[in-house]
Amino acid sequence: MIELGQETGRILDELGVDRAAWTGGSMPSRSPLTGEQIAAVRTVDTADIDAALGQATAAFRAWRTVPAPRRGELIRLLGEELRVAKDDLAKLVTIEAGKIPSEGAGEVQEMIDICDFAVGLSRQLYGLTIATERPGHRMMEVWHPLGVVGVISAFNFPVAVWAWNAALAIVCGNSVVWKPSEKTPLTALATQAIFERAAARFGDAPAGLSHVLIGGREAGEALVDDARVALVSATGSTRMGRSVAPRLAQRFARAILELGGNNGVIVAPSADLDLALRGVAFGAMGTAGQRCTTTRRLFLHDSIHDGFVAKLKAAYASVGVGNPLDGDVLVGPLIDRAAFEMMQEALTAARAAGGVVHGGERVGDGASFYVRPALVEMPGQVGPVLEETFAPILYVMRYYDLDAVIELHNDVAAGLSSAIFTTDMREAERFLIASDCGIANVNLGTSGAEIGGAFGGEKETGGGRESGSDAWRQYMRRATNTVNYSDALPLAQGVSFDLS
Ligand code: NAD
Repeated sequence: MIELGQETGRILDELGVDRAAWTGGSMPSRSPLTGEQIAAVRTVDTADIDAALGQATAAFRAWRTVPAPRRGELIRLLGEELRVAKDDLAKLVTIEAGKIPSEGAGEVQEMIDICDFAVGLSRQLYGLTIATERPGHRMMEVWHPLGVVGVISAFNFPVAVWAWNAALAIVCGNSVVWKPSEKTPLTALATQAIFERAAARFGDAPAGLSHVLIGGREAGEALVDDARVALVSATGSTRMGRSVAPRLAQRFARAILELGGNNGVIVAPSADLDLALRGVAFGAMGTAGQRCTTTRRLFLHDSIHDGFVAKLKAAYASVGVGNPLDGDVLVGPLIDRAAFEMMQEALTAARAAGGVVHGGERVGDGASFYVRPALVEMPGQVGPVLEETFAPILYVMRYYDLDAVIELHNDVAAGLSSAIFTTDMREAERFLIASDCGIANVNLGTSGAEIGGAFGGEKETGGGRESGSDAWRQYMRRATNTVNYSDALPLAQGVSFDLS
């Protein structure tokens, strides 16, 4: 087995992270792979935050005057640097967040993909021209940079979420201040070092265009409450969003909220069951159930229920659980003890509500928390099924009627991702129209979105959209400009105001 502390140090040195940032600090950083401490990270204080926001404000003022395609060049260089650093950063994601290597690599690939997307976008920040009712006038919409963009991110996508926001925000002409999860500070420091390498190659990017603030909830709150921050993109639990949203609203700041999910899959009688089994298994057990898009509720049609459950049980019993650096496993650790305890509480509540639990027990002991994913046969959508528990628990329920099950599917507070497995196009279309989630899929699972689409969800998931499509508009402000090139002054709506 590799020595995690040493390997972490090697990667951070390789990526050029200043040792002062992660040795001798007050915040211990632990790897969920073993529970051991791998660094002691320096946290920010109020003066650091104030200085960062001051510098980011000045950086914004300079950066907004740089033509957007030139701003795209910085993100092109960032994509290049990420390609070079991919293996190291991916391994650090595994060490710090516990993802299996292919998912760690996938996360960095997502950063590269969004850089590519943002480079193209830097030449496509289009506005409209609009027909005016007044002769000799022209009306148009112009998009301007917004200001300092705050990013608050969760532990389970420790670097991709920053990239989704930062790549777009920077080509749009903004500066970025990032408060990563206190559970994953090292990947954030590494990402910042990679950004700085790209900025050095770019040459004349203003200092402080991107900042990282290492700290806990208070550092996030400081971003939320500071009038210099024009937009906060906050990814995390619905509880966090409930605190952040009203504070941002209080000062009329913009918010992108990417909060919890309670994602459901329906498997219909006509489904390709092998496909469905693989889709559900990855969606429910992948990332040890710690994705916002993890499949948590499974609705099986009565006609296929028993056979499908039997196959799922076999998959759950045999899936490899363990340290992803030690062997070929598909399920890594939970992030910490608290996650394990929340999982056990949810399973106890499920049993009390009449559920039959398969799996869910701890694998191994010590300071790390590995679990066998849990499959829970539930009599109905009650108790813990209604909430997100950030762990690998899949609640399975039986259904008879599509309309009724879609209603049940929608009858939870979150609205992030959803899927149906069916080969009946009528069923598929009915589901796509009726699902109340931001993401609705047919014949693929709930997790594993591409960067090209707008990502986010409805209801208690927060309503934000980031990444692809037209999400860029949130990082800009729209101005409607009207130009009168005539020598008359006709008023809109035919209003007359004749001074003579
Ligand atoms: P969390 O809510 O505990 O923390 C997320 C971030 O918010 C951290 O950086 C934390 O320091 C900060 N924070 C917490 N309270 C805050 C407050 N009051 N003000 C400002 N900042 C605050 O979440 P977590 O445990 O790191 O991540 C798991 C959760 O994130 C799950 O609910 C998951 O569904 C959600 N998530 C959502 C998405 C999405 O895109 N919808 C993506 C990833 C994770």
